[in-house]
Amino acid sequence: MNVDYENLKTYAIKLLGERGVTLTDIANITYELQIKYYNNLTIEECLENVKQVLCKREVMFTVITGITIDKLAESGAIEEPLRSILLDDYSLYGIDEVLAYSIVNIYGSIGLTNFGYVDKVKLGKIGEIDRLGKNSGVCNTFLDDIIGAIASAAASRIAHAR
Ligand code: MG
Repeated sequence: MNVDYENLKTYAIKLLGERGVTLTDIANITYELQIKYYNNLTIEECLENVKQVLCKREVMFTVITGITIDKLAESGAIEEPLRSILLDDYSLYGIDEVLAYSIVNIYGSIGLTNFGYVDKVKLGKIGEIDRLGKNSGVCNTFLDDIIGAIASAAASRIAHAR
């Protein structure tokens, strides 16, 4: 099979949008992460780096896989007990974070440190997504980690470039 990565990227961005996340939302998290180190940083530079992260194959595959699992859990297509584990965002599940590492790992240890931080303080859109996922029927178990990982990876790109 031949995979068209331009189409795959468009689909990944569309899926994020369907789940209420824009690339600017992700860029805002990157900005929050890096503004303390670079006081001339702009949202535009963060957005450009988010877009570059999304050009990576691993990132497209992770976005598509994670969001698809969230959607399947909501639709009832996943059997118990996994369905309830996903819908409840059970804290010891941890596979959502493991999947997101495949994004963070591309950019080395700065990415990992940032990822741990955004996950802990639930910066910006991540907090919003996390709260939404606590509503009955909505599953954002994978989505919050994916957003945090892309934002962290973009922050690492900025750090490496400067
Ligand atoms: Mg999660």
